[in-house]
Amino acid sequence: MKKIKEVLCIRTHLLDKKTYMVNRLKSKIISMLRTYLDRKGFIELFPVVASPITDPLSSPYDTIFFDVYGYKFQLTKSMIFHKQLSMLTFEKIYIFSPNFRIEPPEKVSTSRHLVEFVQLDLEMRGASREEIMDFIEEMLLYLFERVQGEEELSFFGRKLPRLKRPFPRITYSEAVEKYGDDFEYRLSEKASQPVWVIDFPYQVREFYYREDPRAGTMVDFDLLYPEGFGEAISGGEREWRPERLKRMLMKKGIDADFYDIYLSLIEEGVPPSAGFGIGIERLTRFLSGLKEIKFTRLFPKLPGKFGI
Ligand code: AMP
Ligand code: MG
Repeated sequence: MKKIKEVLCIRTHLLDKKTYMVNRLKSKIISMLRTYLDRKGFIELFPVVASPITDPLSSPYDTIFFDVYGYKFQLTKSMIFHKQLSMLTFEKIYIFSPNFRIEPPEKVSTSRHLVEFVQLDLEMRGASREEIMDFIEEMLLYLFERVQGEEELSFFGRKLPRLKRPFPRITYSEAVEKYGDDFEYRLSEKASQPVWVIDFPYQVREFYYREDPRAGTMVDFDLLYPEGFGEAISGGEREWRPERLKRMLMKKGIDADFYDIYLSLIEEGVPPSAGFGIGIERLTRFLSGLKEIKFTRLFPKLPGKFGI
């Protein structure tokens, strides 16, 4: 086979000092997070790589289905449904979960989208949104404090902002009013602390969040990094009542038959829970201060680009 330019670029990337340093930092971050979560009594689960059920996500993506013994499987886009169901077995779980999402090619210009990435996915039985937000703030303070002194940060000349709890918050509608529909980048750029965005309307969110019926918004949140690094985390409380889930599917105009496996399991009963997912490559990107997410993986797959 002819050696194409892209193939030779892979070698250059593997030999780049930035790739070496930022992946060493990523490895330390993962180990710090594991230590923290294990001490807090969490159980680590293995990821599910392919399944007949995975996250529908809030905007449409290309999806590849493949046949497994006559059943339609997809690669995992997020383990949301498995996390919720695992609450039947454990109270507190986390997974370093690989996600495969065929992002639209134009997203390559954000420098924060990969096609294959890993999230730390976490879920707690019986938790409220407030408890999860509190937990995240504490976890990030712990991590920032420990990562501060690591030699990779001096290599990149990175000075981390000093975190102050509680992080500021804004509702989705306030954010849209002040910064427009695509507030993510503008709000993040102005911020010097991580910022919570809460109360997303159901129209822009996945169906599985619990809706606050009085407010007509989801009991959810995003956390944005400061300094223009954009979205860090999405999470919230899950709907566990089958009737409400079906009503939400109808409100969103989604065919419930598509989720029949998930709904059948939910109908048998699952406990209420809340949780979140934090992208590890984006976390590493922020902590290193490197703008280009591709350095956070040895074999990055960028939207619309060739990758191995
Ligand atoms: P989501 O389920 O889309 O909210 O994703 C959860 C988290 O994973 C986000 O808050 C990001 O930190 C990260 N993430 C989502 N999509 C990507 C992507 N295409 N590339 C890298 N990280 C991502
Ligand atoms: Mg999100």
